[in-house]
Amino acid sequence: MNIRTKLTVIFFALVIIVVSVISLSIYYFSSEYRQKDFYRRLKNRAINTAKLLTRFEEVNASLLQRMERENPANLPKQHVAIFNEANQVLYRSEREYAVPVDTLLLARVRMEDEVYYHYNDFEVLGFVFKDNENQFIIIAAASDINGRDALDNLRDILLGIFAISVIIVSLLGWVFAGKVLSPISRIVNEVDSITAANLELRLDEGNRKDELSKLAQTFNKMLSRLQRAFFAQENFIANASHEIKTPITVITGEIEVALLQRRTVDYYINLLKSALVGVKRMNKLSTQLLLLAQTSADSSEKKFSQIRIDDILWSVKDELSKAHTGYTIDIEFDMAISDRTLSTIGDAELLKVVMLNLMENGCKYSDDNKVSVVLASGENEITIRFVNKGIGISHDDVDKIFEPFYRGGHSKKVKGFGIGLPLARRIMELHNGKILVSSVPNDVTTFTMVLPFQEII
Ligand code: ADP
Repeated sequence: MNIRTKLTVIFFALVIIVVSVISLSIYYFSSEYRQKDFYRRLKNRAINTAKLLTRFEEVNASLLQRMERENPANLPKQHVAIFNEANQVLYRSEREYAVPVDTLLLARVRMEDEVYYHYNDFEVLGFVFKDNENQFIIIAAASDINGRDALDNLRDILLGIFAISVIIVSLLGWVFAGKVLSPISRIVNEVDSITAANLELRLDEGNRKDELSKLAQTFNKMLSRLQRAFFAQENFIANASHEIKTPITVITGEIEVALLQRRTVDYYINLLKSALVGVKRMNKLSTQLLLLAQTSADSSEKKFSQIRIDDILWSVKDELSKAHTGYTIDIEFDMAISDRTLSTIGDAELLKVVMLNLMENGCKYSDDNKVSVVLASGENEITIRFVNKGIGISHDDVDKIFEPFYRGGHSKKVKGFGIGLPLARRIMELHNGKILVSSVPNDVTTFTMVLPFQEII
């Protein structure tokens, strides 16, 4: 069942239940009122008759019979019978009484004071009537032809209203459900027309207040995120291919030129040295790209073990100093640091990549190729700050340097790919840690690794 049909059925059921309850209540209370009113009128008529018989000596049964027969206030098919305490009939409005009366009925009336019941189409009322010291039983019966007609008429009207309501409510329900759902159908059509080729399209957000408008706004926000992700992906591939293609083109060109004629040994040595630089560059790039891909994939494959932060730091310093003899790396330990705070769990190889990158950047981007590394422990984490003085990072660049292949505007003269920081951030995330940056252009830049204390249980 589609939503439109469902809404129509629910709307229909609700309205029909309400109409039915109202109609049944009207019918029930009208019927109750008719009956009460009829018994009240019947009792009044019977009391009048009894008073005439018992209070006026000149009125005997046969006179009363004649008087009553002509009475215009009589109810339809009205019968009245009056009995004395010995159950003898004192008066009977008709010779043939329409309702059977026996001693059992009279005894019941005496006991209950008032008895009501139906007999064929008669409504019968038996009650005790006291006049001075005498007590009489009156059995009165009549047929409420008019009342019943009115009630039947009311029933027909209510059934007619019910039938018309069914038709109107079904039609209105269907139209109403269509109207409520039309914005959803519009959204479905609009979403249907959005593909990877036109991700810039946005849904109509309408009045920006109701739920559907909020849905459209949320969808638009998601589209914006998707568009940015697509753009970043496209850029990533374009940048990666460019970075790989450049050294290949250079090496190919150099080899082709070299092969045009015979060269000296020195020429070939220089050619090989230049090719080696290009190959090393490609090797570094592919290693970083591979690591980025691995760390971005499912983190359930983490190979964590208990590690010592200071051990990794010293080995990174050794490695970097050997590769770049001109670099100066100072390592300081905060007074509060202890053996316990230096050990955590993680992947030593990955953390080494982060530290190597931050240490190398510190030297690369400083005026004196010098970086200071300060280890400190907080309440729940260990922090490693890499501080250097140099060109710094502009305000605009601070957020972007963590995007793959983004390189600060000032760093074009320094070699690099723009992969180190995104990779470092990803590795820190895998360790439930983070990486923070603060920089004053042309002054001090500080990168901080924050690692939570963790122990293998
Ligand atoms: P790369 O150093 O290869 O360009 P990174 O991802 O390591 O790539 O760094 C991205 C950018 O961040 C750099 O291009 C540079 O602009 C900026 N950056 C990183 N570290 C520093 C630093 N210590 N001082 C100034 N700028 C820095």
